[in-house]
Amino acid sequence: MSTVSPLIAGNWKMNGLTHSLDELSELARLLTTGESPRALVVVCPPATLLAAVAAQGASSGIIAGGQDCHQEPHGAHTGDISASMLADAGAQYVIVGHSERRTNHGETDAVVCAKAEAAIGSGLKPIICVGETEAQRDAAEAESVVSAQLAASIPDAAEHHEVVVAYEPVWAIGTGRTPTRDEIGEMHNAIRARLVDRFGLSKGEGIRILYGGSLKPQNAREILGIANVNGGLVGGASLLAKDFYTIISAV
Ligand code: PEP
Repeated sequence: MSTVSPLIAGNWKMNGLTHSLDELSELARLLTTGESPRALVVVCPPATLLAAVAAQGASSGIIAGGQDCHQEPHGAHTGDISASMLADAGAQYVIVGHSERRTNHGETDAVVCAKAEAAIGSGLKPIICVGETEAQRDAAEAESVVSAQLAASIPDAAEHHEVVVAYEPVWAIGTGRTPTRDEIGEMHNAIRARLVDRFGLSKGEGIRILYGGSLKPQNAREILGIANVNGGLVGGASLLAKDFYTIISAV
């Protein structure tokens, strides 16, 4: 079984103005005055706050991450941001292929893969999101859908660079619903098997597999204790320092 060290990432999505940094300061205070966290802590704010999060992280250990990057290094892409710009602002990780990007921006596995490659090329670690819809789970297609996403969204470059996989059932994101313990365990085991098949035992066992989807203080201990769950990707519950810290402390 994989013994990779855990990582908890907060995805602020399109939430957060300058005053939200008060929550970040509170998180930093909790992390530096309480028991040392057993997980790496990543916060992915809107791009406007990246530099501030990176600066805060310098003293508290919080690592800054982007929420998305363009697959091209630069050019005429109004409103987009490149991986090297994220790195320049202090990011070390970037989420790619979040279901909100796949759904709202029509991102295919090929686009997600290109974004992950761009991230790696700029020295960032991509957090590559996969997950089935409710209809796919009801049709007993969850595992085949996720396997296909993994195969097509993770670049070959992952063999030599650090990548993170986040399993996020689309129907659990922001809904308050979560899969059962067995469902999460089965999917994480299946993902681990796919990673080992593709990258070999040592690399495949070393890739973190995060769970995301309505992870909150009340269920964190149970979910984060499941085999092959190497941490979490947290949306709503990452906005309040107290809640996010409780999840981090549940590792
Ligand atoms: C997410 O959007 O990545 C997520 C997991 O959201 P939430 O925790 O709010 O379900």
